Amino acid sequence: MKFGGASTHTSAGIRNVTRIINAKLAEQPLIVVSAIGKTTRNIEQCAHEAAAGNAESAYHQLDELIAFHVQLATQVISPELYPAVERRIAELGLSLRSLLKGLSIVKELSPRSLDACRAHGEKFASAIITEALKKGGMPVHYIPAEKIIITDKKYGRASVVDEPAKRNAQKYIIPAVEKNSVVLTEGYIGAAEDGTPTTMGKESSDYTASLLGALCGAVDIQIWTDVNGMMTADPRIVPEAKTIEELSYDEAEEMAALGAKILHPLTIVPARTGNIPIHIKNSTNSENPGTIIHSATRRELPAKVEAVTLIESVSISDHNGEALFQLASPGGHVRFTNVPDISGTGDHSAVSAVGEGVGKEPSLLRRMIATLEPMGIKAVLFGASQNSISVILSRTNGEPALRALHKEFL
Ligand code: ADP
Ligand code: MG
Repeated sequence: MKFGGASTHTSAGIRNVTRIINAKLAEQPLIVVSAIGKTTRNIEQCAHEAAAGNAESAYHQLDELIAFHVQLATQVISPELYPAVERRIAELGLSLRSLLKGLSIVKELSPRSLDACRAHGEKFASAIITEALKKGGMPVHYIPAEKIIITDKKYGRASVVDEPAKRNAQKYIIPAVEKNSVVLTEGYIGAAEDGTPTTMGKESSDYTASLLGALCGAVDIQIWTDVNGMMTADPRIVPEAKTIEELSYDEAEEMAALGAKILHPLTIVPARTGNIPIHIKNSTNSENPGTIIHSATRRELPAKVEAVTLIESVSISDHNGEALFQLASPGGHVRFTNVPDISGTGDHSAVSAVGEGVGKEPSLLRRMIATLEPMGIKAVLFGASQNSISVILSRTNGEPALRALHKEFL
C-alpha cells in the first residue's frame, strides 16, 4: 500500500491513512510512504538557494519545513510517543542544515549532493507516519528503504539493482511482515552499494511499491492518492473527467508514459511480471472502488479511447535529419523521422488519446486531427504504439487541446 504526499499533508489525511491501514491489518500490509506534501520541491529549493550562496535564506526555508513537520507530528502522534519523533525531526533538520552549509561554502550542487538532501523528505515522512500508526495501537515495524533498495549511481534517476533488492526484501521485509502486522518503508529513495543516498526520479514511490510488492509476493498493489483512481483526463484540467474502472497494464503504462501524472510509468513493470493487480484508490474516499489495472481485458471492437493525456514540456530537436521528440516523462521517448517544418527546440506539448488498439484505427486518427486542426498541429505520432495517438502542438494550446479531445472522445 503506497500513500503519496497528496494523502498525508494534513492531520486529517494522516488519520484517513491510519484508518485505511487499520482495516487491512489481517492482510499483513507493507506500507510505502513518500515525502509529505511539497517537501521534495521545498528541499530542492533550499539546496539551490544554498548553492547560490544564500545560506540564510536556505536555512529560513528549512526552518519553515521543520516547523511544518513538527506541527503535523503534534497533531497525529500521541503525547507519549511524540518526544522521540520530535528528536528525530530535529536530528534530520540538523543533518539537512549541515548539508546546506556545505553547499553554501562550495557554491555548487552535484546530483549526488542533491539526492542526499532530497532523501530527508522521505525520512521526515516515515518518522511521523510510523508513530502516527502506533497511536491506534498498531504494531509497526519500520525498515529504512536504503536497507532494501540498492541502486546504481545515476543520481536523480537511479535504477534498482535486482539481485540485492530481491535478497534484502526476502531477508528483511518478509520475516518482518510475518512477525508484525504492518511494515513501513519509504518510496523514491534508495542507496548505492556503498551506502550513498540515491533517488529514482520524480514520483517513483509508485514504482517502489510495485517493485516491493512483486519481490514479496503480494496479492495486490494499492496506490492510494487524492482522486478516485485513474480518470479519463487529469481532473485539474478537465473537471468533468470520470474514473476508469478497469485498465490493462498496457493501457495504464501508456497513459503514465504519455503524461497521466497520477502514476509513475515504471510502476506497471513489476506488477505485470508478477501478474499482480494494481488498485488506484482515493484515501479521502476509500469506499470508492477506484481503478483496477490488471492483465489484458477483452475490449470491444472497434478500439475505443479510454483516456486523454497531456505532456506540457515537449522539446523537438534535429538529430542528423531526424526530429527527436523528447517527451519529458520517465521513459517516455518517442522517435519520429522526417518531420517537416520543425526546427530547433520548441516549446511544445503533446496530447494523446490512449486505449487498446487506438493506434491502429484510422477513423480515430481522422477525428483527432479534425478536432485539433484549428489549434495548429505540428506533428502526429501514430503507429509507433498500437495503444495511442499523439499530436504535438504549441505549449499554450496543450490544455485547450486536452479539453477538446476529452469532449470529442469521452
Ligand atoms: P501522490 O502524492 O499520491 O503521488 P500525485 O499528485 O502524484 O499524488 O497524483 C495524483 C494527481 O494526479 C491527482 O490529484 C490528479 O490531479 C493528477 N492526475 C493527472 N492525470 C490524471 C488522471 N488521468 N487521472 C487521475 N488523476 C490524474
Ligand atoms: Mg504521485
